[in-house]
Amino acid sequence: MDSAFDDLLQHNRDFAATFALQGFDGVAKSGVAMVTCMDSRIDPLGMIGLEPGDAKILRNPGGRATERTLVALVLGVNLLNVDRILLVQHTRCAMASKSERELLVDISQAAGVDASWLDLGAIEHQRLSIIQDVHRVRSHPLIGERAQIGGFLYDVDTGLLEQVA
Ligand SMILES: [Zn+2]
Repeated sequence: MDSAFDDLLQHNRDFAATFALQGFDGVAKSGVAMVTCMDSRIDPLGMIGLEPGDAKILRNPGGRATERTLVALVLGVNLLNVDRILLVQHTRCAMASKSERELLVDISQAAGVDASWLDLGAIEHQRLSIIQDVHRVRSHPLIGERAQIGGFLYDVDTGLLEQVA
């Protein structure tokens, strides 16, 4: 069957031919969880010197501590060995570069249908939102003091992390 995914499936067969990630379980070996943006410039494991198996990586637009992200962190902290959580937003993020209204106009134009009903979650003040998200995770009753929580800004031009909260 011809598929839009043929090239990727071919690469997967190559990947499986030298597969080396078997033999460990799903806990975070390093105790780390990172929440970060879906931006393709970001290498979450590489930026902090980790490898597959080491960490829980949770990605969404902007790298926000959303409801479902908090659920994932609860699982990570209580069942999967996580004791350090990094909340990582980044410079030049599309979610922080335009207003909610401007982004919805862009999406409406690209899609050719009205997108104004969408709750996008554009970030108005990036550093403030990092501080707010750290507080949000820390004040969760099922996370709280069970993990160290840090908020960071990642510079996509230098690769450096700056701790904000
Ligand atoms: Zn982003």
